[in-house]
Amino acid sequence: MLIVIGGGPAGYFAAIRAREEAPERPVILLEKSAHVLRKVAVSGGGRCNVTHACFDPRELVTRYPRGGRELRGPFHNFGPEQTIAWFADRGVTLKTEPDGRMFPESDRSRTIVNCLRQAAEKAGVDLRTGATVSLITQTDGGFVVDLTDSTTLQAEAVLLATGGQTSGGSGSGYDLAAALGHTIIPAVPSLFTFRISDPVLRDLAGVAMPRAHIKIVGAKKLEETGPVLVTHWGLSGPAVLRLSAWGARHLAANDFTFEVLVNWCPEMNPQEIDDCLQAETRSHGKQQVSSHCPLDLPKRLWQALVQAAGIADDTRWADLGKKARQKLTSRVGQCVFQVNGQATNKEEFVTCGGVPLKEVDFKTMGSRVCAGLFLAGEVLDIDGITGGYNFQSCWTTGWLAGSAMAHYRAD
Ligand SMILES: Cc1cc2nc3c(=O)[nH]c(=O)nc-3n(C[C@H](O)[C@H](O)[C@H](O)COP(=O)(O)OP(=O)(O)OC[C@H]3O[C@@H](n4cnc5c(N)ncnc54)[C@H](O)[C@@H]3O)c2cc1C
Repeated sequence: MLIVIGGGPAGYFAAIRAREEAPERPVILLEKSAHVLRKVAVSGGGRCNVTHACFDPRELVTRYPRGGRELRGPFHNFGPEQTIAWFADRGVTLKTEPDGRMFPESDRSRTIVNCLRQAAEKAGVDLRTGATVSLITQTDGGFVVDLTDSTTLQAEAVLLATGGQTSGGSGSGYDLAAALGHTIIPAVPSLFTFRISDPVLRDLAGVAMPRAHIKIVGAKKLEETGPVLVTHWGLSGPAVLRLSAWGARHLAANDFTFEVLVNWCPEMNPQEIDDCLQAETRSHGKQQVSSHCPLDLPKRLWQALVQAAGIADDTRWADLGKKARQKLTSRVGQCVFQVNGQATNKEEFVTCGGVPLKEVDFKTMGSRVCAGLFLAGEVLDIDGITGGYNFQSCWTTGWLAGSAMAHYRAD
């Protein structure tokens, strides 16, 4: 008997794979809630960003703030190419968006949920919902798995695919792993947006910059260039989410209180911005600063920056003094915002932390601490940036774990 704990993408992939590899071995999939694959259903804004069209494992691993090094070998065995083929074999075609993200052709996450459910049913996976595991104990012949309803199951091998912190609560995967001898790296959020209360941003909700440079003040290498979105609560967008992922530990250690420096014109440095503004005082002297923007910025953002620099609405370019111009330059090129907290984006958030990767053999996803225990998905200290990378690590680790546990025999 093989038991998989957690009806998310990693657990599903492992359970299906184990049954397909060893059809003679029963596989029970235990899910504590009434519904399986809940995150898949809401993922990618209801479209499910299944994977990313990045087929070189060396490049793919650079998208993982934690786990990249360990995933390199596994991606050679089961990477995006195999994910695409896996779904195609089961009748689901994936399409690629211009930025490389891959979605089901239907643009509906239901397609993926149904595909996984049907594949599990066809493979003969014994799904039990409303089944919360409270304890796993190792015995001579394998494991005893206790459920909160006082039932007990026995298994030769167990897979823990209980997800990250949001899937926690009583009998969290971390507690189950710790009881079997694993250490747990404290969980902190990754892929969050920045809470900022600043007069500059107050009326700018909805303004989207296709490219801005954003940097965490006082932290080496924590900077990103890319789309930035102003929201009702602060800053969001792919560049902010990426920064939150790479800086997850540092930002949590600072209690999510830090300063960011934004260059709204990332192709120019502050001197070049100032040169551009100075040229404007000569070429468009009669025009008003607030209504004539020489830079590639949305009108609302430009006007907010002009106001923040203390420049009156009716000031003409010719009358803009050096001090005011330099203030404007720094608002455009080095705009400082105080961040006071994080907000999880409804699009995607994941956990940084979990079971340390050195305690797992990435050829099999078997525990190095407890023979017969396997681990897959977000319960591990693996997380990727947005773009389909988090599901890809679930498919990869789930597939490897399912392959290995199918052949595992307790001595
Ligand atoms: C809103 C949102 C959107 C997202 N969109 C995307 C996306 O488009 N692309 C992408 O790559 N990633 C996305 N992600 C991230 C992705 O959903 C997760 O990384 C992924 O679901 C992790 O899969 P998992 O199988 O490890 O865990 P989970 O999906 O969390 O599943 C774990 C399951 O285990 C169950 N469980 C926990 N403890 C027990 C227990 N003791 N007994 C029994 N069952 C238990 C839980 O109820 C849960 O169903 C998104 C995340 C969120 C929150």
